[in-house]
Amino acid sequence: MGAATLEALAAKAATCTACRLSETRTTVVFGTGSATSGLLFVGEGPGRDEDLQGEPFVGRSGQLLDRLVEEELGLTRASFYIANVVKCRPPGNRDPAPDEIAACSRFLDGQLELLDPAVVVTLGNVATRVLLGTDAPISSLRGRTHPWRGRTLVPTFHPAYALRGGGGAVAQMRADLVRAKLALAESR
Ligand code: SF4
Repeated sequence: MGAATLEALAAKAATCTACRLSETRTTVVFGTGSATSGLLFVGEGPGRDEDLQGEPFVGRSGQLLDRLVEEELGLTRASFYIANVVKCRPPGNRDPAPDEIAACSRFLDGQLELLDPAVVVTLGNVATRVLLGTDAPISSLRGRTHPWRGRTLVPTFHPAYALRGGGGAVAQMRADLVRAKLALAESR
């Protein structure tokens, strides 16, 4: 994408019409947080609350994620960066389509280049599959770290799944977040 700063890249995203999601979005949800933490969380796409507020993970699942990250990593939302694979809400919260993911990859690639995170935590099937380039389910990919583009990728469940799945998924998310914490410490 060639943007020199996150702000410049966000400004390009704000007027983007490169895929059909631009027709139904309210707000482009580019991403928020610390650009220097070395830690990037990636979800699949904005939901209804995020589309209305312009920030990623602001609904119930975001609140669960914030609580788990604070308890396991000791970090608040302002201390890491969080974004999605696609920056505009897929209608009805469907999964983003392959052509939408491809059209939006310029923004996630730009964020990776500018943030240069040592550790990337993918939240759920879509983000994990897109970044790792696999069709394998999250259940077979989580529970370990993956070397990825000179970084460490830690797959975990989407917090919305954990909200539906009860204590088991939450406990597994906690274990994955501890993996992210260790990988972050090793990178420093
Ligand atoms: Fe552009 Fe991405 Fe939004 Fe599609 S989802 S319109 S590529 S910013």
